[in-house]
Amino acid sequence: MRKALLLAGSCIAIALFLTVTITTQPLAAPQDAAQQWGPNDRSRPEPPIITPGTASTQDRPGRPPSDATVLFNGKDLSNWESVKDGGPAKWTVGKGYFATVPGSGYIRTKDAYGDCQLHVEYATPNPPHGTDQDRGNSGVFLQGLYEIQVLDSYNNVTYADGEAAAVYGQYPPLVNAARPPGEWQTYDIVFHGPRFDASGKLTRKATVTVFYNGVLVQDNVEIMGPTAHHQRPPYEATPEKLPLQLQDHNHPVKYRNLWIRELKEGE
Ligand code: MG
Repeated sequence: MRKALLLAGSCIAIALFLTVTITTQPLAAPQDAAQQWGPNDRSRPEPPIITPGTASTQDRPGRPPSDATVLFNGKDLSNWESVKDGGPAKWTVGKGYFATVPGSGYIRTKDAYGDCQLHVEYATPNPPHGTDQDRGNSGVFLQGLYEIQVLDSYNNVTYADGEAAAVYGQYPPLVNAARPPGEWQTYDIVFHGPRFDASGKLTRKATVTVFYNGVLVQDNVEIMGPTAHHQRPPYEATPEKLPLQLQDHNHPVKYRNLWIRELKEGE
């Protein structure tokens, strides 16, 4: 009887130990998960099949990849709202594009996004007007917090971390790949948002990669926190998904062909 009790007790102890051990193991990192497959393993799942997009020309926007979420349908701003009051976005819509209305305020997507691939096209006013930061200024605010600067940086000197394609106030672009004002320019952005633990402590900084007109200008840089003017505010715990914002900086900058592909953990 005593032996049986001891045996039962041991079994419970082992079961408890295993339960605690298994449930406290961190989730496998993506590279660990990848290592479960041997080289050239034919039982490894194939990637999903999609139809790739087409490139834009100055006259015509390209077609997004088939698995992208289109953020602007070329006709209206139904996917966007005003940041000021949550009402309809008050920017103008032209033939296949929309544009900032100076003084109307920032706009944001109605949906929230986390880690993503984002494609944006914009054109700054032609003829150009103003100098330095006061020339074709707008901005792509990832999660509404981290600005990839939009500016007319063609023959226009400003501080380095405020040029077009800068992570504003943090990282200048690696090169100035600006096209002249009035021409359509592209940003292809890969963004991984920050992570926080249950107590709100930062466990991973956000990172961003940016191709500006097809040229690598931000190479997986670690964003230091929300971008700001003459400030470096610290991270504060935020949800994994937040709306994308576009900046009204009092200049009529045009946008077209915006699309986003959400990335899963490990992509
Ligand atoms: Mg800006």
